[in-house]
Amino acid sequence: MPDIELLTIGTELLLGLTIDTNSAELGRALAGAGFTVVRRTSVTDQSAAIAEAARAALVRSGLVVCTGGLGPTADDITKRVIADLFGAPLEFHPALWQGLVERFARYGRIPSEKNRGQAEVPRGAVVLPNRWGTAPGLWLEGELAGAPGSRGVAILLPGVPSEMRGLLHHEVLPRLASRAGDRVVRSRAVRTTGIPESSLAERLGEIEAELAPLSLAYLPGALGVDLRLTAWALPAAEADARLAAGVRLLTERAGRWAYGENDDDVAALVLSTARQRRLRLVVAESCTGGVIGARLTEIPGSSDVFLGGVIAYDNRVKIEQLGITQELIERHGAVSEAVALAMAEGAARLLHADAAVAVTGIAGPDGGTAEKPVGLVFIGTVLHGAGEAHRHIFPGDRGEIRVRAAQIALSHLLQRLMAAPVDLGPPM
Ligand code: AMP
Ligand code: MG
Repeated sequence: MPDIELLTIGTELLLGLTIDTNSAELGRALAGAGFTVVRRTSVTDQSAAIAEAARAALVRSGLVVCTGGLGPTADDITKRVIADLFGAPLEFHPALWQGLVERFARYGRIPSEKNRGQAEVPRGAVVLPNRWGTAPGLWLEGELAGAPGSRGVAILLPGVPSEMRGLLHHEVLPRLASRAGDRVVRSRAVRTTGIPESSLAERLGEIEAELAPLSLAYLPGALGVDLRLTAWALPAAEADARLAAGVRLLTERAGRWAYGENDDDVAALVLSTARQRRLRLVVAESCTGGVIGARLTEIPGSSDVFLGGVIAYDNRVKIEQLGITQELIERHGAVSEAVALAMAEGAARLLHADAAVAVTGIAGPDGGTAEKPVGLVFIGTVLHGAGEAHRHIFPGDRGEIRVRAAQIALSHLLQRLMAAPVDLGPPM
């Protein structure tokens, strides 16, 4: 696999004000396309820093992908600096300028003098058209100034992640294909939730030997444990076939705890599962204060199955809106299995839903006691009148407890929904 380097440019990256997601995305994509990413560097928007880093990368590896500093403002100097490295003067391209004028016109604007620089191209460079923004990408290739016989390729991409991504997939990877090695590094992840890392490892058993030569990593997070499989330096077709088989094996072993792959969202699965069964959903949230509702409504098209809910934070709302009795709360406490169940039942009844999920817990930092510590959460679900409740104790601070509680609540709801029969009638 040929070497490649990454250079991300922007003072904000070094100040920690912007997270360098471009490097992560480029690393994944380039390894997956058959390159060895040997180094990544970040520098400020200063010409000496950019020149030094880019030149060193070109001398070492001959191939560097840079992002950032292609915009129209004074701090955007990447193009000029890299052009100088190749001894290429900047030339004004009327066609590029025309494209810019037309793009601005669509938004009722006229480009300013500052934008003129965006229509300048280093002599001999290939322009990579940017359909996602105004600054085109550039592909510079040739001898480095002052180093006869040297050769290098510098690929310049905008810093805005969506523009970088568009150019990477549509312009850069196809052009790099002929230089790529015949081996790739690719990953796929199986997502699980509701099961701790150690219990999951027990369930999977001595699976590493079965998965070899793929490597397996356990990646625990607030949303659950992801099982990431990686194929190292295999021919692309073999990597894909082994990953597919590995994902099948992991999914089977993880059983009901596995809910999807890569970026899959359990909330999306709740919605699609409910849709297939023609079930309408509601929520009743105390300590999560709307996190579950937000997770569900974030997904386009949620309105056909998600009706809404009640943020029953204060006991008065639990009593007056959800019909829970004062006596039940006094007997069990607001954070209890009985109240979680009654909240779910109350929400389903009140809002005429088929299924409901309810959460009551202690998110902290205050309010914990010996028998009811911070992190204690009860989740109630109801489906066609049949209730179920679960008790959990989550680690972490207030924010993490709320995120974990919402995720587990969604996964309990999902388990209930999956147990219901699929409705084979016309779609909702
Ligand atoms: P620039 O192309 O330098 O004008 O950057 C445009 C915007 O893209 C900046 O406001 C940054 O927030 C963002 N950006 C720049 N570089 C990166 C990077 N490496 N990762 C993520 N975002 C970035
Ligand atoms: Mg910048």
